[in-house]
Amino acid sequence: MALDAVSAQAYCVCKGEYMAKIDSAKTDTLFPILNQPGQARIGPLARLAQQAPLDSEGFLTEYRPLESRSLIGKVTSRRGVPFTHAINPYRGCEFACRYCYARYTHEFLEMHDPAEFERKIYFKQNAAWLLRQELRRLPQGAQIGIGSATDPYQPIERRQRIMRSIWEVFAEVGGYSLGLVTKSVLVLRDIELLQKVARKNRLSIHLTVTTMDTRLARLLEPRAPRPDLRIHALKRLRQAGIRAGVLCSPIMPGINDARSSMAAVARAAAEADANFFSAGALFLKPCSQPTFFAFVRQHYPALMRSYEMRYGRNAFASAEYRKRIAEIVDSISREFRLGRRYERMPMRTGLDFAAQRENPQSWLPFAQGA
Ligand code: SF4
Repeated sequence: MALDAVSAQAYCVCKGEYMAKIDSAKTDTLFPILNQPGQARIGPLARLAQQAPLDSEGFLTEYRPLESRSLIGKVTSRRGVPFTHAINPYRGCEFACRYCYARYTHEFLEMHDPAEFERKIYFKQNAAWLLRQELRRLPQGAQIGIGSATDPYQPIERRQRIMRSIWEVFAEVGGYSLGLVTKSVLVLRDIELLQKVARKNRLSIHLTVTTMDTRLARLLEPRAPRPDLRIHALKRLRQAGIRAGVLCSPIMPGINDARSSMAAVARAAAEADANFFSAGALFLKPCSQPTFFAFVRQHYPALMRSYEMRYGRNAFASAEYRKRIAEIVDSISREFRLGRRYERMPMRTGLDFAAQRENPQSWLPFAQGA
């Protein structure tokens, strides 16, 4: 990753689908401390991270506050990412998915051990206050992806309640298209607040479920909630009238790309009354490769050679593979009568038509299908 990296940030749709550059990090400090002679140069964001005091510790994790001058990042990617802005309350994610490509966001903090992404978690202070200031300048209708780099409902949210404070702002300030991605059932804590947010904004919740096989999920996403619990959360959200669906991403060759595996997720989504189903092929940035390849080597050794050929020099799956996955998604979506994530429809607020499973809302701030 070229290091204009201080001004760039990953976008992860739990993901493996798109990458975006987010122009937010460069304003993270007002008064940078100059390097001493002979001292290695580090960016202002890395310096802030180094200075952040220890707040608390968990199992294998430590949590630190991170001073931020801004909360909303502007997406500058030209890769067709269908949202214009992004909010990520946390840096790092302790769900520790083996395929996570957002690991490179810790490289902006000068942390190059991929494991640090899941062990050193930074939370953004004053998020709600920052959001209120920034929304005054953000045009109505802007599409904001929440949790586009890291899971906003990871365990630390239970105590920090930063995501909740963000919803409290959007429950008052309306007119935006909001899409949140998570693997966490903690989203249910905020269900009443989400209903208020959906009355003023276009809101969509995306639950990531890569497999219904609990054993495989435990290997792939070691500290994330079980797939059946995520589906249960989806069902509760739908019962509350909130637009919600399933991202079956990333699809990994030979691991979860069988039609039967994807159909099992789609069936569970349909039974939970999901508005949409989507899936996209694995996207493997170089910084994520060692973690994922170690996983494949340990659990799928027979696939190792194939992965080296597919992803050794290319972060993206081949066009043929992506096309095949898209065809499977189309066919499965038809079979289970599940809608798409992204279709053109007029601006309306969420609860008005959250019940329309077969005619889903257009405004999804995330990817178009697979
Ligand atoms: S849940 Fe966390 S570790 Fe897993 S893919 Fe999302 S951001 Fe990465």
